[in-house]
Amino acid sequence: MRLLLVAATTGYQTREFAQAAARLGVELVLATDRCEHLDDPWGDGAIAVRFEAPHDALPSLEAAGPFTGVVALGDRTTFLAALFAGQAGLPFHSTPAVEAARSKFLSKERFRAAGLRQPAFQRFPAGMAPDEAARSVPFPCVLKPMALSGSRGVIRADDAAGFVSSFRRIAGLLEDPDIRRRKDEQDQFIQVESFIPGREFAIEGLMTNGRLKVLAIFDKPDPLDGPYFEETIYVTPSRHRTEEIVAAVARGVTALGLSHGPVHAEVRVNSDGAYLLEIAARPIGGLCARALRFNGGISLEELVLRHALGEDVSAMEREPAASGVMMIPVPKAGVYRGVAGVEEARRLPGIEDVVISAKQGQLLKMFPEASSYTGFLFSRAATPEAAEAALREAHALLRFDIAVELMRK
Ligand code: ADP
Repeated sequence: MRLLLVAATTGYQTREFAQAAARLGVELVLATDRCEHLDDPWGDGAIAVRFEAPHDALPSLEAAGPFTGVVALGDRTTFLAALFAGQAGLPFHSTPAVEAARSKFLSKERFRAAGLRQPAFQRFPAGMAPDEAARSVPFPCVLKPMALSGSRGVIRADDAAGFVSSFRRIAGLLEDPDIRRRKDEQDQFIQVESFIPGREFAIEGLMTNGRLKVLAIFDKPDPLDGPYFEETIYVTPSRHRTEEIVAAVARGVTALGLSHGPVHAEVRVNSDGAYLLEIAARPIGGLCARALRFNGGISLEELVLRHALGEDVSAMEREPAASGVMMIPVPKAGVYRGVAGVEEARRLPGIEDVVISAKQGQLLKMFPEASSYTGFLFSRAATPEAAEAALREAHALLRFDIAVELMRK
């Protein structure tokens, strides 16, 4: 039993998968573009690949095989995983499907062709004069860089002046050397969509031979009205009617052609109905998966690995308890020095864990430039209300020490 794990980072999520594989007694071979990083849990066991040159990576993946299945973490990895799976005859989403899913533009084109409810959208070259672009967009609207994820660089604009400054800000963000290095054609565009008011939900699902199984529906109880869209609290089970949400996701995965493997969707709901924002061909990111437990303690990672091994997981259900996760926002920009109150927060009823991921000396940025959170809070309780309240109470106990930095920009 050997699985290929294609992952862009050797961070938290990859380690969680490595641990789950070890528990299952499955050999996991990592293919990543970050082999030089110190926290590579496999030492020199990883296969070095470049996601922007997937065809070049195939021979080394083949040489490392055979594999029983493939798992991809993050958005940039899915194409290589799909390409390899297609060639090796392993079940996984197809390359056209993951290509559409990972593009904010292509996916919306597919949704439009299928007649699905979604925001109006268009894209502009990042080098374009923003005042010219501003003439053809609706207000309020949302500007987003095609190249980024995790709400990074996503900004709401209510008028032409706001649009122009947001456009410039995103174009500046795209100048970041880390982003430029990727040389992705998509990275050259800024997408503009009509702003959809309403409540937002995240849906975690698993496709098996074209059939969607919903694993969890998260409420996002904090309003996400902009101008930035930093994620904070996710709570499951949902306290709202979910039929419409599930139906929208089911239509969306069909429109994209996603067929086998994890999917993660974002949906907004208002009195007009459920609007698809995006569907990614991957599991929920970061440490958020810790909020999910199935059949008496099975983690999402274990579930995904078992599915990739070909096991029938259709009967697995999320535990009856409510659970929540809070992605702890950066309270102010500067150099992270430490945090007080973690132990008190951890002792609160309902709080399962407090994980601080910020490192001493790390330069923290605020949204929309930020690419990370300071950490995660996890709760479990009898009801979603209690799970949410525990997160808010715990967050209120944390006191961050962040030094304002004067030298660097
Ligand atoms: P990313 O891939 O960076 O997460 P998304 O397209 O998912 O980008 O947008 C991030 C967040 O921005 C969404 O979760 C949502 O809160 C908000 N958002 C994005 N597009 C819209 C829209 N058209 N209307 C309202 N909110 C939006």
